[in-house]
Amino acid sequence: MSLAHDQRTHLSSTLPRYDWTREEVRALFALPFPELMFRAAQVHRENFDPTEVQISTLLSIKTGGCPEDCAYCPQAARYDTGVTAEKLMSLDAVLTEAAAAKASGASRFCMGAAWRSPKDRDLDNVCAMVEGVKALGLETCATLGMLTGDQAVRLKQSGLDYYNHNLDTSPEYYGAIITTRTYGDRLDTLEHVRAAGINVCCGGIVGMGEGLEDRVGMIATLAGLPVHPESVPINMLVQVEGTPLAVTPRLDPLDFVRTIAVARICMPTSVVRLSAGREDMSEETQALCFLAGANSIFYGPKLLTTPNPGRDRDMALLGNLGMRPME
Ligand code: SF4
Repeated sequence: MSLAHDQRTHLSSTLPRYDWTREEVRALFALPFPELMFRAAQVHRENFDPTEVQISTLLSIKTGGCPEDCAYCPQAARYDTGVTAEKLMSLDAVLTEAAAAKASGASRFCMGAAWRSPKDRDLDNVCAMVEGVKALGLETCATLGMLTGDQAVRLKQSGLDYYNHNLDTSPEYYGAIITTRTYGDRLDTLEHVRAAGINVCCGGIVGMGEGLEDRVGMIATLAGLPVHPESVPINMLVQVEGTPLAVTPRLDPLDFVRTIAVARICMPTSVVRLSAGREDMSEETQALCFLAGANSIFYGPKLLTTPNPGRDRDMALLGNLGMRPME
């Protein structure tokens, strides 16, 4: 019996497990590529229709001027990236964008603000936006930085469905990327969001100069959360001039695909989002990501401040692959 066949017969049930060890996650990354893809695709189709992709739209409701120092981010005030700080958008402007997103096929509308954490008066405005977007019949998601428990409860009361707060990388590599807050701070916010009853959207970024062991650590941490995030965005670094990571050596696209596949296997019932970085990705790489179990994309020409493939290109790609937006 071949090793691959032997391994397949030991496929664990795809019920979520919360006790993934780093050793197990490392072993998945080390599988021969075809074997890893087979396993990920199998887990994917046991839990989802592999031809369906959830479509989200992301709007920057408050751009730039952020006091944090995330080394990948063009919105950090301390980096000279050409992004100018703007005020929080008006409610009407946000609702106009949300209506347009709905008309072009999005089912979820994500609102991102470049804050370390929201001030209470800003939160009032965001809560009004959440209520308005929800009334249009869209799922709502927000990413506003760190939250207190009370703030998470207020967002929940306004109807927020998802909160995005990424772990970004492994606990060990985190300090090389961000120094203005800790990994523990991130985990605290995730706990507040979960306790408030909001769905969690949490993933990370690869290609930031991390090693394989950091990708292992990131997935093991996400899969070891008390409940898996309902949504797991896996981003490929977008190298933006002026940020400290602008000249990071590019990650092999197959390593990105492997990360998606391992995320799919370790968090079988989560929606795995092929997130930032698609603009620089070939259609073949994106197709491999879908095969590896990615089943969500951001749709629209811009992701906060970085480029994203246009809507027509995305619809053409999905059509070419015989795939369709998830209802
Ligand atoms: S990633 Fe968010 S918190 Fe970090 S600098 Fe950018 S906007 Fe600020």
